[in-house]
Amino acid sequence: MGEEKWMKALVYEGGGRIALRQKKIPALQAETDAIVRVTLAAICASDIHIRRGAVPRAVPGVTLGHELVGQVVETGRAVRGVKAGDRVAVNVETYCGECFFCRRGFVNNCENPDGGWALGCRIDGGQAEYVRVPFADNGLTRIPDSVSDEQALFVGDILSTGYWAAGLGEIKPADTVAVIGAGPTGLCTMMCARLYGPSKIIAIDTDESRLRLAKEKGLADVVLLPGRDEIEARVRAESHGRGADTVFEAAGGTDTFELAWKIARPNAVVVVVAMYEEDQTLPLPRMYGKNLIFKTGGVDGCRCQEIMDLIEAGRLDASFLISHRMSLDDIVRAYDLFEEKADHVMKIAIKP
Ligand SMILES: [Zn+2]
Ligand SMILES: [Zn+2]
Repeated sequence: MGEEKWMKALVYEGGGRIALRQKKIPALQAETDAIVRVTLAAICASDIHIRRGAVPRAVPGVTLGHELVGQVVETGRAVRGVKAGDRVAVNVETYCGECFFCRRGFVNNCENPDGGWALGCRIDGGQAEYVRVPFADNGLTRIPDSVSDEQALFVGDILSTGYWAAGLGEIKPADTVAVIGAGPTGLCTMMCARLYGPSKIIAIDTDESRLRLAKEKGLADVVLLPGRDEIEARVRAESHGRGADTVFEAAGGTDTFELAWKIARPNAVVVVVAMYEEDQTLPLPRMYGKNLIFKTGGVDGCRCQEIMDLIEAGRLDASFLISHRMSLDDIVRAYDLFEEKADHVMKIAIKP
């Protein structure tokens, strides 16, 4: 009674500052909530965007982190899908499941104030010892015994993004797919694009070691390095002179949006997965007649059970993305390492 329980949490302080602070252990606030003890969390590129002040809706004082797995310690009365003791993957998006957008699967635009990407942005996230997850029945996916925490770590965010993006791509067997960006999200996109059976996946990145990894893991068939390779010509040469049937832009660089529509064949689908910090231009006169289909946005992360099933079946495994393992005490250093892309970092698994 009266005894307050404290935990460590990585807090966004606004204006480019983050710090490891003591915070109260979260309690249930609604009967659809669950409290999860975090066993592993990751740092995402979006966290870096927040730290840079490039995500205006991020609230100073919030605990960061939206990519994590853990163990349920407590559930609200209305939670049916999980119970205390269950190992779970936490979804980046919390969503009500009942509003206009949720009913159509567009959970990123859930109309609830706690809906969409709220965790680690507008409400306290999981780079901490504990996290409160609203709408736990929608936002938690049980991890089967045969799946490790590391294998499940990316289910709720970058694997969801890759899976969602691949679905938008309208990939048909024998298609040629180009993915710009072989970072964690790009690699997850390649992995999920493979599920649709394209004849060829072309990976494009300015980092040779990332391209090597894409090739090694069998995610890309052809790897192209701007500067060394003439990208447009090479993509055409790899696609019967036409250009890629589907292009995924997962890099978010200064000229990668332009590259995306240039390497697409007429009538291709261009999926923009990247999160830009600046406006991009859509030069319609130059692309007139090419009849491209652009799809953009933030992930609708409501297919986590399918992703978990595919992991359990051995058809998806993103655990190789973990290049570094660090403790929550070292998380600020981990942010620096991740932002500087030092030491060939891909993803960092943080253990509270
Ligand atoms: Zn993320
Ligand atoms: Zn909703």
